[in-house]
Amino acid sequence: MTAAEILKKFKLNRTHCRVLVLEQLMHSEKALSQQELDHSLRPLCNRSTLYRILNTLEQKGLLLRIAIEENNKYYFDESLLNQPEKQLNFVFFHCIRCNDVIPMQQVKREGIRLPEGFTMKEQHFVIRGICKQCNRENYIQ
Ligand SMILES: [Zn+2]
Repeated sequence: MTAAEILKKFKLNRTHCRVLVLEQLMHSEKALSQQELDHSLRPLCNRSTLYRILNTLEQKGLLLRIAIEENNKYYFDESLLNQPEKQLNFVFFHCIRCNDVIPMQQVKREGIRLPEGFTMKEQHFVIRGICKQCNRENYIQ
């Protein structure tokens, strides 16, 4: 499915910037911050447009937002298209050296039980450490 087709399916206007933002995220192996997107989309989409687009796509359940320290990273996964009503559970790896946020695997929610009266909407685990690439560079030096 193309970015334009996804926007249509989710009843969102196919503006030039929305298509570009979604395409960037679809083609990225890792989660991207607003700054990273801003950097690659400038001057086509301005910062406030980008901010609104990310919020809209997140509200539609098309993006996962991972809060990393003071920053948000956004991640698109195709499974979000087929199961928008299901809250998916992802494990992300945050590299403290290069700041990359990389999806690790999908895990099942079973196993975690909340106390009575609490409702789980989503759960994203973030593992902090040194990524493969940074470990390799460290080893070479
Ligand atoms: Zn790294």
